Amino acid sequence: MIRAKKVYFHASKAEQDRLFACNRESARVWNECLRLAKNFYLEHKKWMSKSELQKQTKGKFHLHSQSIQAVCHKYLFARDSSHQAIKKGHTTTRYPYKKKNHYNTKWVKDGFKIHPNGKIELSMGIHNGKREKPIVVHASNLPQGHIKEIELCYDNGLYLAVSFEDGQEKKEYQSGQAVGVDLGEIHTLAAFCENGQALIITGRKIRTLHRLRNKKLAEIQRLQSKCKKGSRQWKKYQRAKQYMLSKSGKQLQDALHKATRNFVEWCVKQAVSDVYIGNPEGVQRNTRKKKKTSRKQAQKLSNWSFGKVKAYLKYKLMQDGIHMQEVDESYTSQTCPVCKKKKKVSSRNYVCSCGYQEHRDIHGARNILSKAIYGDIRHFDVPTTQKYLRIA
Ligand SMILES: [Zn+2]
Repeated sequence: MIRAKKVYFHASKAEQDRLFACNRESARVWNECLRLAKNFYLEHKKWMSKSELQKQTKGKFHLHSQSIQAVCHKYLFARDSSHQAIKKGHTTTRYPYKKKNHYNTKWVKDGFKIHPNGKIELSMGIHNGKREKPIVVHASNLPQGHIKEIELCYDNGLYLAVSFEDGQEKKEYQSGQAVGVDLGEIHTLAAFCENGQALIITGRKIRTLHRLRNKKLAEIQRLQSKCKKGSRQWKKYQRAKQYMLSKSGKQLQDALHKATRNFVEWCVKQAVSDVYIGNPEGVQRNTRKKKKTSRKQAQKLSNWSFGKVKAYLKYKLMQDGIHMQEVDESYTSQTCPVCKKKKKVSSRNYVCSCGYQEHRDIHGARNILSKAIYGDIRHFDVPTTQKYLRIA
């Protein structure tokens, strides 16, 4: 399977400068893609094709030809994803329009050479008929396996995002248990398996991290607003802000990785083959509509970085041959699966006048599973066995 790894490296000052120049040059490619595509559309009233875009950018930049192409591909991908989102009715989505000062440079296939001692040569291609001297860096923690791509990224310092084939076969899908997952506000993740086993992973740590992050961010921004934009003091605060965001981002990512890993391990133990996850996109769109009262709610939801959790889960489950699908989760938190009455839950437990009761998050996960399997909300006639996991 293809995996990704963050790789740190050493390079001379001169080579580091050249690397920074690469990312500035890649930004120029991106900006040129924006310009070309716009002009093409205005002139021809249709979209610029991949081959046309490649033809018009080829050889015009101080980068390896495949590195230029990689930016074009990313531009086209961004354009197409926006198109899909707009078609689905997302009103806030825009086509790529923002000019950039820095953009990650990618080296693929013939664009790089790796030596056994960790030396990496990043090709700069041929200019004016002459092959330019490659950029040389030294990495110590390169992954084992066949390296496919190297991307030059920046997060408080340069690093390489290396994608590689790890040589591991992914497990085959084998029909087994089904699980419903509810991504909640108070808990990261609640799951209910049709065999009655339920798991709650509490993410109070994640929430604390987020809160702290927002608080610090507000503080820096308050101080910054008193300075003149672009002044020395302003820039100092800007750096502090970036440092804080990068650090807390890493902590959050760690916590999310831990939570999702724990969930996947649990799935394997239950012999799960299918995971149905409540689609929170609908939730977010609804809260946006309701304006004032839901602002707090919207903040809560965004705290949970749903997109990230979903992406982590999908990837990790796939490795174990488990399928993941999204389910429209509307009414799953309110509806009683026994008598179908609807009510809002305010406490930790969902209690219905008909006698049904359940932990509110497991209740949600149960109903999501039912929607996935039966197409509507029904009761699974099995007692729940709860397991709690706290992310330290
Ligand atoms: Zn009921």
